[in-house]
Amino acid sequence: MTDPLPAKLVAQTWTGPFDCPTTVPASADVVVIGGGIIGVSTAWFLAKQGIDVVVCEKGHIAGEQSGRNWGWVRQQGRDTREMPMIVESMRIWRGLEDEIGEDVGYREQGVLYAAATDRQMNRYAARIDAADEFGVGTRMIDANELAQYVPGGKGDWKGALYTASDGRAEPHKATPAIARAAISKGATVLSSCAVRGIESSAGSVSSVVTEHGSIKTSTVLCAAGAWTSMFCRSLGIMVPQLKVRGTVARTAPSVSVLEGNFYDQRIGIRRRQDGGYTLALGTDLDHPITPSTFRFGLKYLRAFLMDMKNVRVSIGREFAEEWSAPKTWPLDAESPFEKTRVLNPKPNRRVLKNIRYNVDKVFPQLAGVEIVESWAGMIDTTPDIIPVIDQAASLPGFYIATGFSGHGFGIGPGAGKAIAGMLSGDDSGIDLKEFRLSRFFDGTPIRPQAGV
Ligand SMILES: Cc1cc2nc3c(=O)[nH]c(=O)nc-3n(C[C@H](O)[C@H](O)[C@H](O)COP(=O)(O)OP(=O)(O)OC[C@H]3O[C@@H](n4cnc5c(N)ncnc54)[C@H](O)[C@@H]3O)c2cc1C
Repeated sequence: MTDPLPAKLVAQTWTGPFDCPTTVPASADVVVIGGGIIGVSTAWFLAKQGIDVVVCEKGHIAGEQSGRNWGWVRQQGRDTREMPMIVESMRIWRGLEDEIGEDVGYREQGVLYAAATDRQMNRYAARIDAADEFGVGTRMIDANELAQYVPGGKGDWKGALYTASDGRAEPHKATPAIARAAISKGATVLSSCAVRGIESSAGSVSSVVTEHGSIKTSTVLCAAGAWTSMFCRSLGIMVPQLKVRGTVARTAPSVSVLEGNFYDQRIGIRRRQDGGYTLALGTDLDHPITPSTFRFGLKYLRAFLMDMKNVRVSIGREFAEEWSAPKTWPLDAESPFEKTRVLNPKPNRRVLKNIRYNVDKVFPQLAGVEIVESWAGMIDTTPDIIPVIDQAASLPGFYIATGFSGHGFGIGPGAGKAIAGMLSGDDSGIDLKEFRLSRFFDGTPIRPQAGV
């Protein structure tokens, strides 16, 4: 049998203009490491405050997680500690296209988690009280109502958890658009510009060393996604972080079988703005074992037990790669960040085959619709599956925003506002204490509330 799914590697578009410099600004108020949605949203909010900010991205804007995700913008099923930030983020998404004058594909078409058993219905229903507290309108619906939102779906569903005010957006459009909005407010956004390290003076940050020269600054934000732990380690800062690989596919435009986002044990599906669908196999993820798995494993025990059914653990070349990777490197020579401009893992072929099989079963009208592209992304997880947003205690001026654990796209604009507030001292109204780095080391119980 021929493989029905040739795995084209992701070809997410990015449209400039983002400079590929040979020199960098001599100085900046703030330098952001990483041109994902967290880095560029922060830069946008800083620039709106009149702060001189430079974003350095080693590859291209949205080249990693921010351009590879499912495009779900959801409040549903969140850890309660993230709720104030996601509620603010939804407010920003709703006005984003008008404010920046660009199409990001945001549509409020709801999120559904369908349940096939009473047990699953009860587990979803247990989330409603927490959601009610934040007024997001999450509710349980029965099978009849579910059929109205998923007219093309086939399943023995009892009902679903439903949030009508949740949405979707196009990952390949949103982050570059926010980066352009930041530029229009005065930010500098540099692609193909890896940050090699940080220099300090009297114990505080004094400059950022890039492959194209140094930028004098007293404030740095490390929003380096899956690279954050490695970068921080080179500065003597421990950030517990493990990577899991998610495999995704998209179809050609087709008939409407739903307009929003739908998830059950077999399939995660989102209607795309181009009329196709973004597909994944529920939350079937791979964790390649690396030395970090042993270094941080104990802290991840609860997260692993919670997500055990969804995460396949394997050992392969990633172990040797991390083992042999340098822990520190000279700042005047090529660094690991230039060697891998874009982290572009291969999609899991077994997952792709199951996506095809399951989507045909659950949405028979899509049987035979061509899968035109597939890709994978490395998700940066923390032990409690919520991010770290904090200043490093050992290096004043060095801030970290990472570990959005598979749900940082939707929360990105809200996080950007909160992080900008942390950096500038401007009160964003969002309390960040739950996201402090020290929670992993000071005896605070590590309690994930929601999976990746
Ligand atoms: C398969 C998949 C599905 C997902 N689905 C969803 C979803 O539906 N909804 C949702 O809300 N979230 C989802 N997520 C999660 C979401 O995509 C991420 O949480 C979010 O994009 C993280 O943004 P970020 O800016 O922190 O990281 P990234 O987007 O990974 O950006 C970090 C950037 O830093 C750059 N960088 C690293 N080191 C350096 C350096 N030294 N110098 C310069 N640049 C550097 C990298 O090149 C990278 O571009 C998904 C993720 C994946 C992979």
